[in-house]
Amino acid sequence: MANVAFIGLGNMGGPMAVNLVKAGHQVTVFDLVDAAMDAVVAQGASKAATALDALAGADTVITMLPAGKHVAGLYLGDEGLIAKASTGTLFMDCSTIDAETARKVGEAATAQGLQMLDAPVSGGVKAAQAGTLAFMCGGDTVAFERGKKVLEGMGKNIFLAGDHGAGQIAKICNNMLLAVHMIGTAEALQLGANNGLDPKVLSEIMLNSSGKNWSLENYNPYPEVMPTAPASNDYKPGFMVQLMLKDLGLAMENSLVTQSAVPMGSLARSLYSSFSQKGNAQRDFSAILEMFQSE
Ligand code: NAD
Repeated sequence: MANVAFIGLGNMGGPMAVNLVKAGHQVTVFDLVDAAMDAVVAQGASKAATALDALAGADTVITMLPAGKHVAGLYLGDEGLIAKASTGTLFMDCSTIDAETARKVGEAATAQGLQMLDAPVSGGVKAAQAGTLAFMCGGDTVAFERGKKVLEGMGKNIFLAGDHGAGQIAKICNNMLLAVHMIGTAEALQLGANNGLDPKVLSEIMLNSSGKNWSLENYNPYPEVMPTAPASNDYKPGFMVQLMLKDLGLAMENSLVTQSAVPMGSLARSLYSSFSQKGNAQRDFSAILEMFQSE
């Protein structure tokens, strides 16, 4: 069992840390918001006064923070986690951040004799609670084999995508594709409905034809087709529009750096951006279907 320091106990980090306690690991937690630590402490974790205090005695450090600037701020510099960690410590940053920061932090950790994986997740708060997250890791195979044993306490499918930053790249590629097929699924269903087709019947036809895709199969954006989907629950998230927009923003930034053509991803970002600005930022991302409905 590992001795884990878990930093960043928000919507995702909180339940992930609880699952590590349940899996039998020694867990010490820290968050800037005191109350965020309570639920995990109630399950048996110890509370640290600062992020650096959480390092004491930890062989594994997991972070789950909002964005790249928070990760760089915590890891780098003379007072950062990397400078203060004991040799051999394994870091796993599960936040969704830009690949460049992930590479920079990963290389800084390796240069210091530490191990580091970027390990962003697929799956939302429900998957974090259920311990069914997918992890997409970037780093070396030695760190991956070691980290996998801990990640198994929080998730099911754990992949090594490549070197530092590769986990973040896998994540933005996946979510850009998700945005594109969600929008395509929504507009196809609405086109059918505008022609008098029953969206349930059309969904069944497309599920058994070449239009079959994950959004149609698991997350139907048309209300009342799939009782368990957010579309049948007033588009309560689920996966919020603002989080999809964040991931599409990271994909677009990376496409500029790598000079990659991403016309479909770029259009998806524009559509989600204008949808978000109309008061939909905190609704489920499948609500994009409403863009195709006449007022
Ligand atoms: P959140 O805002 O709920 O939680 C972030 C936590 O980090 C907060 O509690 C905040 O106080 C803490 N924090 C920030 N800076 C800190 C610091 N320096 N030291 C200690 N604590 C600090 O965010 P979330 O929804 O838990 O998401 C976390 C990450 O996971 C993000 O990168 C997000 O994009 C990604 N993600 C979220 C979801 C989701 O459905 N919420 C799904 C997949 C991936």
